[in-house]
Amino acid sequence: MAELKTVAFHTLGCKLNFSETSSLSRILENEGFEKKEFDDRADIYVINTCSVTENADKECRYLVRSIQRKSPESLVVITGCYAQLKPKEIAEIPGVNLVLGAAEKFNIAQHIRQLARGDSAKICSCDIEEVSGFHSSYSLNDRTRAFLKVQDGCDYNCSFCTIPAARGKGRSDSIKHVISNVKELAANGAKEVVLTGINLGDFRPPAPQRRNFEETSAAEKQNFYSLINELDKIDGIQRYRISSIEPNLLTNEIIEFVANSDKFMPHFHVPLQSGSNAILGMMRRRYRKEFYAGRVKLIKTLMPHCAIGADVIVGFPGESENHFKETFDFLHSLDISYLHVFTYSERDNTLAASMEGVIPVNIRHERNKMLRNLSYKKMQWFTQQHEGQIRKVLFEGHEKEQMMEGYTDNYIRVSTPFRVEWCNQLVDWTL
Ligand code: SF4
Repeated sequence: MAELKTVAFHTLGCKLNFSETSSLSRILENEGFEKKEFDDRADIYVINTCSVTENADKECRYLVRSIQRKSPESLVVITGCYAQLKPKEIAEIPGVNLVLGAAEKFNIAQHIRQLARGDSAKICSCDIEEVSGFHSSYSLNDRTRAFLKVQDGCDYNCSFCTIPAARGKGRSDSIKHVISNVKELAANGAKEVVLTGINLGDFRPPAPQRRNFEETSAAEKQNFYSLINELDKIDGIQRYRISSIEPNLLTNEIIEFVANSDKFMPHFHVPLQSGSNAILGMMRRRYRKEFYAGRVKLIKTLMPHCAIGADVIVGFPGESENHFKETFDFLHSLDISYLHVFTYSERDNTLAASMEGVIPVNIRHERNKMLRNLSYKKMQWFTQQHEGQIRKVLFEGHEKEQMMEGYTDNYIRVSTPFRVEWCNQLVDWTL
């Protein structure tokens, strides 16, 4: 078999997946592979899949077919959440050579070396309960903003979610290792680091191996708050953002810390999912709407300029007109800046998939549209509140149609004609 020299990647899903793809790419580049664009011809194509994406199956088949059309001799590797959940289904897709589950993803180089063209698809995967290692990863876009994974997996059991089955138990990086990654990013020119994880607020660094009583109790007390305290002290990084944090883990001390930090940006993304307590109960969420409203109130009291985003799911089984109205009115009343709206869709092996009260798909879509309109108005209102203010914008280095983009501290997007001297720089900007 001719030597495999080039590799191209395609990522589906969230920022965590993007950061993991970047790490897979670095692993293979260190092994001597040359990275190609996905649209180009490459010896190997790696698709990093997502289980949240509706039609993950169709998307995966479509991508494999497109590879076969442009480059029938190439090898195709599928990894990511969907590969962990449905390895056999994926292995049966014509053209797939290797399926890597959660435990084997970062051993990609070794698995690729053992691949041979013409073999039937090989599955390298184990039960998710056996997945326990943590692999840190980061992606660095345009050398401006980096997404750094510090936590993986989740011990919660929200009734709609397949992520614990795809990514396994909650586990975290050590604070020491996160610090070393952040220093590396700073040395590579990153100005902003976005901390990412599946259940980020549940960050619990592993206990040291040999330890005495004092070390054990000190280690056990370490949590997300300890992490942000340490990161705040590092020179070189000017901005941090917390990608998303469960409301029940967003403690007063974290909110107060961010309010007093120059480096942690006034921006929170806090999943709500529903504004009806009955639906939150069926979703097995660990808070109720009153608690969520209390989080928003504290944030806005300490940081009136803070951006707050919320995830919401519409069309969950049993979500009556009244439940939806309750959600709509609750979101309307909350002082938040934008929404990420998801249309509920059934996922195999979840409790919600067998619940009664299935909502017709057209109604799910109508509700989605209503909340997206509300989100648009909220974002407009939030932006208007800051008109005339001078805020710092971190401009990115990417030029698109002679324009450049950046974000204020409180996540307002700014676009302006491209100026090379502003790339990767903080600029005082009048909104
Ligand atoms: S907190 Fe709930 S929704 Fe989020 S990953 Fe864990 S189980 Fe899924």
